[in-house]
Amino acid sequence: MIDYNKLRVRIHLDNLRHNYRLFTKIHDRVIPVIKSDAYGHGLVEVASALEKDGADTFAVGFVHEAAKLRRAGCDKRILALLGPISDEDIQSLWTDRILTPISHWAQLRRVLAASEQNGPLDIGLKFDTGMRRLGFLPEEAGEVAALLKGGNVTPVMATSHLARADEPGREKDVALQARRFQAALDGLAGAGFVVEANLANSAGGMVHENCRMDSMRLGIGLYGCDPLEGAGEERLPGKLLPAMEVTAPVMQVHPLKRGESISYGWTFTAERDAMVAIVGVGYADNYSRALSNRGEMVLHGRRVPIRGRVCMQMTAVDVTELMGEGIEVLPGDEAWLLGGPGEHPVTPEDLAEWGNTITYEAFCLLGQNRREYV
Ligand SMILES: *Cc1c(COP(=O)(O)O)cnc(C)c1O
Repeated sequence: MIDYNKLRVRIHLDNLRHNYRLFTKIHDRVIPVIKSDAYGHGLVEVASALEKDGADTFAVGFVHEAAKLRRAGCDKRILALLGPISDEDIQSLWTDRILTPISHWAQLRRVLAASEQNGPLDIGLKFDTGMRRLGFLPEEAGEVAALLKGGNVTPVMATSHLARADEPGREKDVALQARRFQAALDGLAGAGFVVEANLANSAGGMVHENCRMDSMRLGIGLYGCDPLEGAGEERLPGKLLPAMEVTAPVMQVHPLKRGESISYGWTFTAERDAMVAIVGVGYADNYSRALSNRGEMVLHGRRVPIRGRVCMQMTAVDVTELMGEGIEVLPGDEAWLLGGPGEHPVTPEDLAEWGNTITYEAFCLLGQNRREYV
């Protein structure tokens, strides 16, 4: 958590809950993905909010993040998507009751060895259907099942991840992964293991019928973004709402005369007499330097463009128009880096586009600043 700055991240838990409920209307079992501190929205806070809407499983990343959620008092099923890495992780599967997908032979052997001391354990199995990151190959499913048959380590879930579910026109690639996943499920079924089939992410669960299966993993949609830029949202019975807003204070306001340049490198020169506000945010606060001369903020309900380079803890915005209309901008005013009042709040999609990234990264980075819940 970054604590050396004046940023405030406001999380609207009611909007998160609204987004979750929208997905439960189109899917029977929605697993909120709250890895990486709930994409910067807060692991424990988000989990407790969604429990009120009936979420019965939460997906996180590494096993120790799952253990943290368990030890914070969460009593639901917790799925650690990334699998056990250390001996401590493996022990935690029993002591903290963590479900995790096992993705390769050496890992499986370690879990089997540990089960001799610790007793029975339910596990998941991860299959690599095309991402080429983690997982058994679908054709290994029969062999894995044969090894587990009759033992005290039982597969209860099979999972895989889609590479191109959020790209329009890539139905064939998605279908190929769904077919490979089905082959893995068939391999397990051949040995008598009928497991919870879990393939779709947000995009998959919204638009790809062949990926719905028993449960879906809801990440970015939960935080209010449509990974399909509108094509996904139209399948939902309502609008997704943004859950994160971020503000920083104005520090000083002054003129920038025609011909004067501003900030490191003098990359912006005023073409006419202007007024600038210096806002107390920079790249040390995970506000990307890529936003230099590209991004915008919201001040007094209006968009204001960034002038010159984003510095470590300061960024200048042009407030000429605002002040020309008699709106006073003063030190201490709040500038919105994300969200904001007025007709044109900064959307996560805006921030991602200006910074050459995706909404996921914008959330994870800005969410590392001090949060408050409303
Ligand atoms: C992060 C993640 C998700 C969530 O994806 P979204 O696109 O955010 O819905 C689902 N599954 C796995 C394995 C993930 O790592």
